[in-house]
Amino acid sequence: MLPLVYHPNYSCPFPEKHRFVMSKFVRLYQHVCDQGLVDSNLFQPEASDIRTLSIAHCETYLTELVHNSMDAKRWRRIGLPWSQGLIDRTVTSPNGTLLAARLALEYGMASHLAGGTHHAHFDFGSGFCLLNDLAYAARSLLRTGEVKSILIFDLDVHQGDGTAAMLASEPRAFTCSIHCEKNFPFRKSESDLDVGLDTGLADQAYLDVVENTLVDLLERLQPDLVLYDAGVDVWEHDELGHLNISSHGIQERDELVLRHCLKRFIPVATVIGGGYDRDHQRLAERHSSIVKTASHLFPAYL
Ligand SMILES: [Zn+2]
Repeated sequence: MLPLVYHPNYSCPFPEKHRFVMSKFVRLYQHVCDQGLVDSNLFQPEASDIRTLSIAHCETYLTELVHNSMDAKRWRRIGLPWSQGLIDRTVTSPNGTLLAARLALEYGMASHLAGGTHHAHFDFGSGFCLLNDLAYAARSLLRTGEVKSILIFDLDVHQGDGTAAMLASEPRAFTCSIHCEKNFPFRKSESDLDVGLDTGLADQAYLDVVENTLVDLLERLQPDLVLYDAGVDVWEHDELGHLNISSHGIQERDELVLRHCLKRFIPVATVIGGGYDRDHQRLAERHSSIVKTASHLFPAYL
């Protein structure tokens, strides 16, 4: 069965009416359990610490975060209320993405039931993102030599500005963001490849862009690993996203991304990325698209 990564601390106690749906992680976990996708294939990451996280982040920032000593303005930019539960899940999730990446290297494919906090920068958080799991995982795997090259393929509706900035000086990590140009962040960083889409773009045109871009990158870069941010805020009724992608379109997108990696024998680890919906259960089930699709295609290389 497809290796899955999850920690029970991911959905910490949190204001129910907040735009960020903190309950989506446990709901997603429960949903994939109900679908029969969880058995002995479940892996749990350990919490990280300031010293380890400093491979990707500024130690001063990490210390302020953990000890709740950040000034109010910098904290407001993150947009989430500080709590010990929030910090506990925040220092665990980057290791979840790293673990999923290692499982993908071993088994061909793996899914993290969280991750994709791509607005977090080296020394500040932003847009509901405190730590950047994608940059952290990439730096960790490159440092140990487990991989020589990584493609971060970010299909969240928002640009992966933090990831792009944090890895700008790392030529072995290629950052690609395909996002809606009119969505946050309004001042964008420069990824290795940015594709800014028009507001309201629908399924077929979107899928064509995704497929052409991915195929070109896989052929050109031949990365040792793909980290795939399968954000579902591209959905037509998402509360924040300005694209017009149907649920079926999201499923087709996920399937084509995974198939193109697998047929080239390139390991791929998935993270869930963003998604915003007042109906929290509906959101969690939308995030399950990537897990169901990956589970369906697993085992990867047969
Ligand atoms: Zn997003």
